[in-house]
Amino acid sequence: MQQLWIGGKATPSRDGSPRVIEDPATLEVVDEVYEGTTADVDAAVQSASEAQTHWRRVPGVERARMLHDVASALRADRARLSELLTREGGKPRIENLDEVEWCAACFDYYAEIARNSHGSSVPPVAEHQINFTIKEPLGVVGCIVPFNYPLLLLTWKMAPAIAAGNTVVIKPSELTPLATLRMLDRCTSPLPHGVANAVTGGAAVGEAIVDHPQVACIAFTGSTAVGTRIAAKAAARLARVNLELGGIDPCVVFEDADLDVAVPGVAWARFLNAGQVCTSAKRIYLVEKIAKLFIERLVEHVKTIRLGHGMNPDIDMGPLVSARALQRVEDQVGRAAAQGAQVLAGGHRQPSAGPGHFYAPTVLTGVSPRHAVVCEEVFGPIASIQVARDAEEAIAMAARSEYGLGANIYTSNLTWAMKAMTEIKAGTFWINDPLTDNDAAPFGGMRKSGMGRELGEEGLDAFRETKHVHLDFVPEKKPYWFPYRRRADEIPS
Ligand code: NAD
Repeated sequence: MQQLWIGGKATPSRDGSPRVIEDPATLEVVDEVYEGTTADVDAAVQSASEAQTHWRRVPGVERARMLHDVASALRADRARLSELLTREGGKPRIENLDEVEWCAACFDYYAEIARNSHGSSVPPVAEHQINFTIKEPLGVVGCIVPFNYPLLLLTWKMAPAIAAGNTVVIKPSELTPLATLRMLDRCTSPLPHGVANAVTGGAAVGEAIVDHPQVACIAFTGSTAVGTRIAAKAAARLARVNLELGGIDPCVVFEDADLDVAVPGVAWARFLNAGQVCTSAKRIYLVEKIAKLFIERLVEHVKTIRLGHGMNPDIDMGPLVSARALQRVEDQVGRAAAQGAQVLAGGHRQPSAGPGHFYAPTVLTGVSPRHAVVCEEVFGPIASIQVARDAEEAIAMAARSEYGLGANIYTSNLTWAMKAMTEIKAGTFWINDPLTDNDAAPFGGMRKSGMGRELGEEGLDAFRETKHVHLDFVPEKKPYWFPYRRRADEIPS
């Protein structure tokens, strides 16, 4: 049984019940955690709040050293962390080793930029005055994280938040809390107690964090439905939010694309982590000239994707995270087929891969914007393909969406690339290299995909306030103070 993490140590829940964590590939029990309660959240917030009064005063150079030490501890524990990520979430271990390294790199990045970051000096409005700005932490930040990249999406919040002088209360996904608890236990000892705290559990724990009056900011990654609810609750008490939400990202392949690159690139962009990626290529648009050949080659390529337990180094794709997720994807494909979509590959569960939640990588054609697989987010291995007459039509189709997280295109034609970039609303626009993140570049969504940014300097500013300081180094009475009768001659008659 894994405990909560409060005040720098493993702590039992006050009155929470146990929750079983299952391996989604085998359905075996991996471990148990607590279903935390409001009292646990309160204890974690108190711990974070007390720690913050000291942590915000720690000099930046010292904070940077500690963040680098967390990065080193993550790298040292990569074998066990990646194994836990695979056992609780199902991702292939190689992807989880990458995830741990990206976390370490992100802690290193924020160690440096927070240390080098500064306010600005501002030209004064009168003599012997100095004006400047400083950046201050917000206080306690609630970090609510989804299941698909448990450590990475936590790190994108926690590293900048603590680098800026905040402390955090973390709520991992109820499906994948184990690697997070291990990371807190094994990798955060360089930090003072109480800087990072975690309460496991589901929606009720998340809501208790969102509602807590001492939580100054909620950094949330997850579905648009939950994000919308959090935004409304936070607005009611004017708490800050950073919301990274769902996406139905377009991916356009233009007629000049090199299919030897574009076919495996699009397949990876759609089937990575069994399609459970916020920025995966969920709406694929092919220009007619290359559509038939592209589809043939994609179907062939999809047959080479091997499914199985993520601990097996010979597989490419693991299971979906839960029975609910599997059922949802099955329903979405079933509805698409009933509405006339053609299933060219997959379209069924894959029990030969194991007893868990396996679904075969699936290719659908003949879909349109009225199909649920196009207008709802499909969080599973389903490539939905639409064909456009030409480049202009492909761009127009890709641009038609209520979401705006990412977008991918394959082309070397500068005009099409820049037209697509201009027309498509997206927080990240990838050309010829899908889904690549960069710690130094902002990541986030527009429209129903969220508000605010993680990563880059924007990701640090998400957890800081700007304070303007006005200093007059010659204290003297000002001529514009009371009494105003001294200034009567300035008033026009
Ligand atoms: P989810 O919204 O179901 O859950 C996310 C987190 O919110 C979990 O920890 C969950 O327990 C918690 N939660 C649920 N209800 C809550 C409530 N009422 N109040 C507070 N917290 C609550 O999402 P998920 O199924 O874990 O993840 C998949 C979704 O996340 C997809 O929509 C995906 O696109 C999105 N996502 C977005 C990004 C991004 O960066 N934009 C990245 C990864 C995933």
